[in-house]
Amino acid sequence: MDNLILEQNIANKKIHFERAIFISWYCSLGDCTYCYMSTQKSLISDPNKAKRSTASILAEAYLCKKLGWKVGNLAAGYGSYTPQSILELVKNIFSITNEKIWLNIGVLSEKTIESLVPYLEGIYGAVETTNEIVHKKVAPNKPIAPIERMFKICDKYNLKKAMTFIVGMGETIDDFDSLKNFIIKNNVDKVIFYALNPIKGTMFENNNGPEIDYYVEWIRKTRNEFPNIDIVAGPWVDRVDNLHLMLEAGANAITKFPAIKLFNTIHAKNIEEEIKKAGFEMEGSFTQIPDINIENIDNFDFDPILKEKIKIKLKQYINQLNKN
Ligand code: SF4
Repeated sequence: MDNLILEQNIANKKIHFERAIFISWYCSLGDCTYCYMSTQKSLISDPNKAKRSTASILAEAYLCKKLGWKVGNLAAGYGSYTPQSILELVKNIFSITNEKIWLNIGVLSEKTIESLVPYLEGIYGAVETTNEIVHKKVAPNKPIAPIERMFKICDKYNLKKAMTFIVGMGETIDDFDSLKNFIIKNNVDKVIFYALNPIKGTMFENNNGPEIDYYVEWIRKTRNEFPNIDIVAGPWVDRVDNLHLMLEAGANAITKFPAIKLFNTIHAKNIEEEIKKAGFEMEGSFTQIPDINIENIDNFDFDPILKEKIKIKLKQYINQLNKN
């Protein structure tokens, strides 16, 4: 989102939802100590089989557009897609949403980035924490330097840069200066604040995640320091009842809510209420299903077999939305 749109949205008091579309469950690193993928790596013998089907990804992108959600990013572990396969997928999604896309699939080479430029808004660096000691412990093989080098390539091609930050992995609020310096040094356009979600089978499985006030403090300090960047709050379901605090602290978008699975549930309704409570209006809906004509998939320039597969997936997703 450029600064003008950000300012307009804040002035119009609009909050949008950024859906991260998962495109693979494989990661060639697979050893970050907080990550679900690290619990799966030993179970995946063929990375190709961990890829989600193209039809299912495209159906989800179409659904996002219809529901007024943004495709926040395409997410996968490192090394899960070849340069050719990611280009093809990104082109197909772009043809559905007609909006440039963010990628969150690890550090990419300049050659790959260059080929994707026409379809990309920007690239995520999965930084996760700027506390060096914590970083070494939680992401031993995902150093920050290659991410910063990739950000330089983004600058060369006028792409935006986002960074992820997981609150609650051992840092303290005294580490805020290191985040601030990182944002300034790399001219980061968007920060996504996740609250640590303890995953079974990881070193954090018995952790409760951060206290809400502490999580919100990261958002508040960042907004105070950087009035013009995008700040995305990514609380897990158990924290949506405090979403108004995150918005009041300065987040201008939300993510990380399993919005299809939990469509029109009490959690979805709570989010809409929380957005109102903070004095904002939500773009799109977590509770109202718009008219979706599955046959409109025929209008896209896809292979006929793929079109039929997308329609089948779309029907499944719409059934899921109707379940609650
Ligand atoms: S690089 Fe990303 S996907 Fe891979 S294990 Fe680490 S956090 Fe998980």
